[in-house]
Amino acid sequence: MPETNRFLDYAPAPESTAILNLRESYGLFIDGEFSDGHGESFPTISPATEAKIAQISTADASDVDRAVAAARRAYTRTWSKLSGADRGKYLFRIARLVQERARELAVAESLDNGKPIKESRDVDVPLVAAWFFYYAGWADKLDYAGLGPNPRSLGVAAQVIPWNFPLLMLAWKIAPALAAGNTVVIKPAETTPLTALIFAEILQQADLPAGVVNIITGAGDTGSLLVNHPDVNKVAFTGSTAVGRAIACSTAGSGKKLTLELGGKAANIVFDDAPMDQAIEGIVNGIFFNQGHVCCAGSRLLVQENVKDEVVDRLKARLSTLRLGDPLDKNTDIGAINSRAQLERIRELSDIGEQEGAERWTADCEIPKNGFWFAPTIFTNVSTSHRIAREEVFGPVLSVLSFRTPAEAISKANNTPYGLSAGIWSSNGSRVLGVADKLRAGVVWINTFNQFDPASPFGGYKESGYGREGGRHGLAAYLTSAALESSGRGSSSAALTTGVSK
Ligand code: NAP
Ligand code: MG
Repeated sequence: MPETNRFLDYAPAPESTAILNLRESYGLFIDGEFSDGHGESFPTISPATEAKIAQISTADASDVDRAVAAARRAYTRTWSKLSGADRGKYLFRIARLVQERARELAVAESLDNGKPIKESRDVDVPLVAAWFFYYAGWADKLDYAGLGPNPRSLGVAAQVIPWNFPLLMLAWKIAPALAAGNTVVIKPAETTPLTALIFAEILQQADLPAGVVNIITGAGDTGSLLVNHPDVNKVAFTGSTAVGRAIACSTAGSGKKLTLELGGKAANIVFDDAPMDQAIEGIVNGIFFNQGHVCCAGSRLLVQENVKDEVVDRLKARLSTLRLGDPLDKNTDIGAINSRAQLERIRELSDIGEQEGAERWTADCEIPKNGFWFAPTIFTNVSTSHRIAREEVFGPVLSVLSFRTPAEAISKANNTPYGLSAGIWSSNGSRVLGVADKLRAGVVWINTFNQFDPASPFGGYKESGYGREGGRHGLAAYLTSAALESSGRGSSSAALTTGVSK
């Protein structure tokens, strides 16, 4: 135990799992019902203990066909015939059910994903409800979304999501799709299918017409079958840049509208006149929230040279007070790494960081025996050419670089193939605005970090992807209109160009 922790020992405060009503095995949710998949089933485990939670089905090609056919039927016969107001009522109902079952969803998410319960309880699940409430409100107001009169739904949306915010990414995908009048087939990540399957039960409770949302589980092959299915009209993907690139290639020329939300290597820029107490908390939140499994994480700290030592010392002191351990304990700050594969990737990149000459510092915390864990780590003496400064680690690892002038900060911040987010910490308003204007990032947070709101669009530049999720902009991904078509923005190839221009 580090010196600072001795007097701050907390009694265990584990959240009970009694609220869960899990099945031993889950089928695919197709056409309003659970049915077994024809692929080989697999277990989903708790990354904190490696204990099995439930057995999960794999959808093979015939199951993907069934799911897409169900979505097509529901689109033609039911969903596209409902008024916006009626679609909105279903979305409001789903939002309220998410709130009613919030505790259960939070416990399931922390169990399956490894994230601390205080995050799933206070961030993920409330945002899930907020996303459904927000888009419920849009369902009967699509004429006012800025896309011209009578925007039309696209049809069947194929959606593939990652493991870092399993239920939240599901909400980001499903809520706008349904509000805009599309039906959905969605595939959660292999390691985190649990909350999506509980969400399927919520859809049954909400009496959502059969086939409007279909949830199919499996690994990358299932995702690939889904996005390449000939009868889908829209593909929405969140995940790695490599897979996003493959999907862009395979859907090119197919007429499918495509949005991609990919990786990031965000700069968190701290000037010497920053409100320092808040900045330290913001840096910690920026990279250690959700174990750093965040595409918009502030993984590159750019700190003005004259305050660098102070910032690094204070960061180390703060990180020494973070508690790593049981995700279900309400006092836990750092939970488990989501999978063995991700842990290995974090270890590998961190070792490379050391080999390349950066200086590694790791918080002194006890690592539980079972499960996948990585203590909060800071690299100093990092240069822009180091792999830990260029590649997405997607773990609790911060690379610290320094700068002298605002111009140098901007040039270093933009020196990345990504462009999802950035942060600026300074008390000087005109400096903040001047720097923000020059950052090539979809979201720029000022004196804060990792803030999400359903009304605010989110998305990237360059290799972070294209298209926006959230807000009025998020609707455009699921609609077409005469105005969009005449401007060429209705097609996927056009989205490529509009997404990357500032
Ligand atoms: P990934 O492989 O891109 O997975 C994302 C989703 O795509 C998962 O549901 C995955 O299924 C599925 N998938 C995999 N291959 C596919 C294919 N060929 N066609 C269609 N779908 C496919 O990402 P990951 O392995 O989970 O994470 C790897 C890296 O991606 C991370 O280290 C991080 O850099 C980045 N990442 C970014 C975000 C983000 O929010 N932008 C989120 C997660 C990860 P399976 O899970 O079943 O394989
Ligand atoms: Mg799991």
